[in-house]
This record gives sequence, structure tokens and C-alpha cells, in this order.
Amino acid sequence: MTTPTRLNTLIIGSGASGLAAAVFLHRLGVKDIAIYTDGLQRGTSLNAGSDKQTYYKLGLYGAEPDAPVLMAKDLSAGGAMHGDIALIEAAASPLTFANLVHLDVPFPHDEFGQYIGYKTDHDPKRRATSCGPYTSREMCLSLTAEAKRLNIPIQENRIAVELLTDKGRCRTTGAIFINTAQSAQGGQCFEIVQAENIIFATGGPGGMYADSVYPVQHTGSIGLAFEIGAQAANLAESQFGLASTNFRWNVSGSYMQVLPRFISVDDQGVTREFLRDYFPSLPDLLNAVFLKGYQWPFAAGHVPGSSLIDIFVYVESIERGRQVFLDYRSDPPDFDFNALNQETRDYLTKSGAHLGKTPLQRLAALNAPAISLYHDHGIDLATEPLPIAICAQHNNGGLAADLNWESTNLKHFFPIGEVSGTHGVTRPGGSALNSGQVGAWRAAQAIALKYQEKTINDEDFLAQAKESHQRFSKPRPATPPAPSDWREDRLILQQRMSRAGAFVRTKEKAVQARDEARKQFIAIKNYDLTALTDAVAIAETIRNRQFCLAQVYYLTAIIEQIEKIGSRGGAIVIDPENGAHIHPALPPHWRLKPENTAWRQKVMLCQPDGDGNPVITWQDCRPVPTTDGWFETVWKNFRETRRSL
Ligand SMILES: Cc1cc2nc3c(=O)[nH]c(=O)nc-3n(C[C@H](O)[C@H](O)[C@H](O)COP(=O)(O)OP(=O)(O)OC[C@H]3O[C@@H](n4cnc5c(N)ncnc54)[C@H](O)[C@@H]3O)c2cc1C
Repeated sequence: MTTPTRLNTLIIGSGASGLAAAVFLHRLGVKDIAIYTDGLQRGTSLNAGSDKQTYYKLGLYGAEPDAPVLMAKDLSAGGAMHGDIALIEAAASPLTFANLVHLDVPFPHDEFGQYIGYKTDHDPKRRATSCGPYTSREMCLSLTAEAKRLNIPIQENRIAVELLTDKGRCRTTGAIFINTAQSAQGGQCFEIVQAENIIFATGGPGGMYADSVYPVQHTGSIGLAFEIGAQAANLAESQFGLASTNFRWNVSGSYMQVLPRFISVDDQGVTREFLRDYFPSLPDLLNAVFLKGYQWPFAAGHVPGSSLIDIFVYVESIERGRQVFLDYRSDPPDFDFNALNQETRDYLTKSGAHLGKTPLQRLAALNAPAISLYHDHGIDLATEPLPIAICAQHNNGGLAADLNWESTNLKHFFPIGEVSGTHGVTRPGGSALNSGQVGAWRAAQAIALKYQEKTINDEDFLAQAKESHQRFSKPRPATPPAPSDWREDRLILQQRMSRAGAFVRTKEKAVQARDEARKQFIAIKNYDLTALTDAVAIAETIRNRQFCLAQVYYLTAIIEQIEKIGSRGGAIVIDPENGAHIHPALPPHWRLKPENTAWRQKVMLCQPDGDGNPVITWQDCRPVPTTDGWFETVWKNFRETRRSL
């Protein structure tokens, strides 16, 4: 085992949130820090995008009134979100936005310096802004440049494989990494970091699903935190939507508004336009496709409504085993532009797309870069149909944190960004990126104010680290060797989650999947890792184990949702016996369990019991705080409490 590196704060992950935390810490004078990441080129922030990738913040344009409490109410309007966290995300949003502006992230403003906004999902005001399809990439590039300018050490090729705690599991003390650039011979690839504080910025659980629009460069590591007993919140609340699968991209906005054909192909190569089964006429079908462009994510509240299309795609692909495509090459023979409804015709006409003789020609008129984007990834929409699926995109839940983004049950451990579960059932588009920046700011402030002293006993730490390290490096002759290709286990676990833990949920499938995940977890835990000679294979095998554990947690939360809550947010629950019928042309078992709205007032928590099994508890949502708004009172409190957050 190598000698531990000692730091005040270890930042794990180099997405937009981890990078921001490092920059804020440095500015606040906490300079004994380092970012450890599996790579600056990895993660969601650098690699994901969409039609117009959104950033949400307090309104900074025109005459429309806005204030932190108004924004907090909108952030938490979907329910299951704490109002005080929403208020912090709202209040700090202009500040963290300004930080990005100062770092040259190109958010558009007018000649008076007003930052223009537009309305996004669940947003009654025009708080959303964007730098185009790659807002989070722009953020990452600027933040990385700043971190480098400040000489903040960035250790790449490091995959965290275990978090270390004190004996009582009251706090974190460090982490074990695999350096994938090192040989696995003699355990040389293992590195130990002792850290007073850990900023855990490892992103969402993208690698847990087969059907996923998280970039291929991102997997996530929430299971690391479950292994040390970290409490989680709202794990069942995730977002799913239609995306292309050969190049992972949301087919939202223009991709729908130009009215592509939805076709499916069976294993004999027989093609059909399956949406026709569900609509009385072609214009009705096309008007529904148009609407889908505005309402991209699957939403239980849009069933019946625009989210029926996601269900029809699911039935065709998952239940009937046919591959589904979007086809931009031609219109159906009975296509008649004048038969479309007024809204669709007006939009296409105003955009100059009404003259297009095919969906592709309309797309060229409406949004030509949308075609080039696929072209740049080797896909020619003029000659080939685009394979699609309903894909996992974002987890609203994650690790539970307090008002400083410190874990609710592990001191010195700060989950920020998507791995932190601050959101509720729904959230305004763009609030994920805002939350990551605000969490980074709050965590950095808390560390600067209260956690700069060294409190870890070096000997205790070393003993603990040795014990953990031995678990990886000790041969286990009696147990099966780890398979040489970790991808086999990964595929099994990913397919399981897309089958049972995505947007269509049934109790039977979820329980079966949870039990399978537990079995696979135990099997992988018992692998003899010394059989592996490649550092990447060791790290990814350990990740598989953590994903299985994460699935046990997520599926436990999903089972609770199925039993108590019913259909809400980004998922529906199917109850073939007692549910409400959804659509006459769907198979008879498609009956929806309605939502019990009483649960919107509560946050679902999940934490292991003494045997390591996740247990669900419920917590009442804290309201958006109201204060007397008197300057002298706030100033006095500020002076008295600032040094003791
Ligand atoms: C297609 C798509 C579109 C989206 N659009 C929007 C939008 O319009 N608006 C919005 O607000 N949000 C959007 N999101 C969500 C948003 O992009 C993410 O929530 C956000 O970028 C996550 O940032 P992060 O810093 O938390 O994590 P990431 O950017 O994912 O970074 C995680 C980091 O942790 C590293 N890491 C992970 N595990 C380990 C480990 N074990 N050891 C070492 N390093 C590790 C990764 O390599 C990476 O550097 C979208 C997401 C997707 C997939």
C-alpha cells in the first residue's frame, strides 16, 4: 500500500459541480485541496447536451418581478422538496451565475447587460437561459481553465473504489483510488488519500441503465456512498425521455416538431408505422407528435396527453420486441399539411418549414444544426432511420444533504451536483445545473468556516485504510475469480434497471429485480480480484458491485413508490387489476395506478439498517422559510453566527 496523500479537502469528480467547488474553496482560502477524477474528459457536464441546454436562475431581465422566495416556491412546487433548500438554491443562483459569467461562460445578454431568459418546464417566469446545445460543457471548460490558473492539483485516471470512514461511521476520512495509468502488478495501482473533507461530485447514476441518454463517458458512483451507509433522498424520482441510441441525444424540440414518422421493424425486417394503431386519423397523430416536441420528458401528469407517445414506443419496443426508429426521409402518402391543427401549421409556417416535402427538409429549414449534429457523429438522417428508446436522463433524488450540502448522517462528507438529491418530484428545466453550482458554493463556505482544522488521527486512519486495502488485494482461492470482461456483468445490471426501474413500474418486476441485484452484488463482492491483471478491469469490477448495491437502494425506493404513492413525476405504476384505463388501443393490462398526492408533502429517505439492508422512512417537507425581512435583524444575526455556521 502506498503512503497516503493528506489533504484538507478531496474533491471527487470533475464535472461542473466538482470543478466549481474546487474554485470556490481556493478563493475562500482553502488551498490544501485536490480534484481526483477518472478524467477531465469524462462525466455528464462535459459530454451531454440538448437542443438548447438550460440553466435556471433568478430573473435578471426586463420588468417582470422576481425574488428568491418566488423562485423557491417554483423550485419546490412539484412537492417532496424542502423549502429551505429551494430558498438557498434560489438566493444563491444570481451569485453562482455571476461567477460563471465572470469566467466567460457565454450566457447571452443585451446591450444593457440584462441576461435574457425564456420559459422552461415548470417555470412561470422567464428564468431559463442557455449558451446553446452545450451549456454545461461551456461551464466545464471555463471552470477547468480557472482551476488550472489557480494551480489546483487535478489528478486524472483516478477511480475512487472505496470511501473511508471512522470506526463508528460518523464521518468520512478519505478514499481509496485505483490509478488506471498504473500497472495492477503487486497492487501498485492503489492510492490512498486521507482527507478532512470530501466533496463528492460523482454525478448521476447513468451507468446503471441500458437505455440511457447520459453520455457514454459517464457512469456515476453513488454506490460508493451507500457502502458507507450514507442516507439518500427521493431515489425513486428520475427523468426519462425519447432519445436516439446510436448517438445518445434527446430527440426533443425540432426533432419532433418537423413530424418524423415513427416506424418499427421486427426481426424479419417487416416495417410498420405503429402510432397509427392509437390515433383516429393521421392529422391527430401528427399534432400529438408536434406537441411532444414541447413536452419532452415523460411525465405521469401527461398521461393521457403527450406522454402517451412514450408509452406507445415502450409497448412496441419492450413488450413487442420491435426496434423503433424515427424516419425523416419521407412523409406518409396521405400526409396533408392543411389538415394539421392551427398551432402546428402556424409554427411550421412562421419558421419557413411548411414548404418542406419531407421531415428532413422541414428540419433543414427549422434547425439545420440539428442535422449536422448527427452528421458529425456519423449518422446521415437523409439515408437512414434513427433508432430510439425511452432513456434515463436525470435523477432528481440522490444523497441526502443539509443546508450546507453536508451529508445528513456522515460529517465532513459533502455530496453536490447530481449525486445530491435536493430536487423533488418535478423541477424546472435547468435547475440541475444551478443546484450543482449552489451546492458547490455552500459546501465550500461551510468547509472554509468550520472544517479547516486537522481532526483525523493518522494512525487510526492508516489502520482503517490498510484493512480496506487488504480486502481488494488479498487472494481468495475459495471463491470464483472475477471474470476477465467486466462488461458482461455491467450489461446484465443495466438491462435489469431499464426493464424494472425505469419509467414504467410494476411491483412484481421491481421486487424480482431488487432480489436479482442483491444476488449479483453478493456474487461480485466474493470475486477474487487478484485474478485481474488490468487496473481498469479491477476498478470497473468494483464499480459493478457498487452499481448492484445502488440498484438495491433504488429499487427499494421504487417498490415503496409503487405501493404507497402510485404514478407521479417521471414514472407511472401499472396496476392491471385496479388501475385506470389509459388508452383503448393499449393491451388490457395497461391500467394506471393514480397518485396518492398526500405523499407530495414528504421526502422519502433511504438508509441501511444494521445488516446493510436499505430501510425507507419519511420526512415532512420543510416549508420555504419566511423571515421578517428587517435589515438590522438579519445583519445582527449575520455578525453573530457567521463564524459558527
Ligand atoms: C442529455 C442530458 C441533457 C441535460 N440537460 C440539462 C439541462 O438542460 N439543464 C440542466 O440543468 N441539466 C441538464 N442535464 C443534467 C445535468 O447535465 C447534470 O445533472 C450535470 O451536468 C451533472 O453535473 P455533476 O458535476 O454533478 O456531474 P458530472 O458532470 O457527471 O461529473 C461527474 C464527475 O465525477 C467523475 N466520477 C464519477 N465517479 C467517479 C469515481 N468513482 N472516481 C473518480 N471520478 C468519478 C466523472 O468522471 C466526472 O468527472 C442533462 C443531462 C443529460 C444527460
